Amino acid sequence: MTRHIVTLIPGDGIGLETSAAMQRVVAASGADIEWELAPAGAACMEEHGTPLPESTIEAVERNKVAIKGPITTPVGTGFRSVNVALRKTLDLYVCLRPVLSIPGAGGRYEDVDLVIVRENSEDLYAGIEFEEGSEGACKLIDFVEKSGAGSIRPDSGISIKPISVTATRNIVEYAFEYALKHGRKKVTAAHKANIMKHSDGLFLREARGVAKRYEGKVAFDDKIIDAFCMSLVMDPSQFDVIVFPNLYGDIASDLAAGLVGGLGIAPGANIGRDCAVFEAVHGSAPDIAGKNLANPTAEILSAAMMLDHLGELEAAERIRRAVRGVYARGEHLTADIRRATGSGAIAASCTEFTDALVAALEAE
Ligand code: NAD
Repeated sequence: MTRHIVTLIPGDGIGLETSAAMQRVVAASGADIEWELAPAGAACMEEHGTPLPESTIEAVERNKVAIKGPITTPVGTGFRSVNVALRKTLDLYVCLRPVLSIPGAGGRYEDVDLVIVRENSEDLYAGIEFEEGSEGACKLIDFVEKSGAGSIRPDSGISIKPISVTATRNIVEYAFEYALKHGRKKVTAAHKANIMKHSDGLFLREARGVAKRYEGKVAFDDKIIDAFCMSLVMDPSQFDVIVFPNLYGDIASDLAAGLVGGLGIAPGANIGRDCAVFEAVHGSAPDIAGKNLANPTAEILSAAMMLDHLGELEAAERIRRAVRGVYARGEHLTADIRRATGSGAIAASCTEFTDALVAALEAE
């Protein structure tokens, strides 16, 4: 059996609990993983003076594969998102989020099976912002006025939304290649090209251009993002692979997670040409952190995606089978799932759920 060295960034909040659970489950799956711990986040800021040390980036670059728990981002003030910085520094241009029903998880539908492909490097997440009243904001407002493009109130803060031909082609190509590789039938591009003609309009134009190259192999259509949201909620089966600019993809990920039982079961990956960082869709959930209430399924299924990526297909499938088994039996389910299913049964803690999963793996 091949031993793989994987960087583990436990994160903060519930990340500490879900990462520990994930490690136990991966060990029980039979995969031979050596974890190399790397810090990031608020506690790391206190200890190392930065929320994302160079040594953490170097560890991911060296090992090529990492899994991370969520990291809290201070709202409005404080350090910028570590997640965004990690994605940009390592050029993890793809955010891949499969959305799959798990029977027993309390989904609104029984058979959701779609894949979200979200552009991960630009759009409003580019982090190019001008504080209200700053010199940069004033200059920009002046430039916009003088160029005749429109007017901006002088007391505005400004976030820039760049969408490039390069990044759009890359992400749409990834979506089509993913569809081909995994026998998917259709790619849908979601956008707001009717309003933002030079950013979303460019995204749609380039998506159509890439789609032409796949004609006859993978179908293509597009949807305006607001109509997309309604259609998704009413009938998710009409979608297959969906490709988004960054912000819409982020919002649609949580929406889609809500269809299958919630954030507790939604896995994901950030993928670049050299490295991949696997992580759940959810955040650090400060409301339940440290209480042993978190559902670790999302991080565990992210680990299954990681094992696929490492070529450990059997271990990955064993984990997914064990997850389906525990949900189907329904005896040890966490509080979020009890709420989603409307069940009055006593909820399992994060540890009890993980015990059940490990027992299922060991009983195979
Ligand atoms: P969140 O995803 O942390 O929580 C939203 C709701 O879902 C909360 O009620 C929470 O209790 C619940 N929830 C989330 N994951 C759960 C799980 N595994 N089990 C049970 N319940 C779960 O979103 P938020 O509250 O908007 O964000 C909290 C912090 O996380 C913020 O600082 C945000 O910036 C950060 N965040 C980080 C990442 C990341 O690291 N990739 C992603 C999203 C948000």
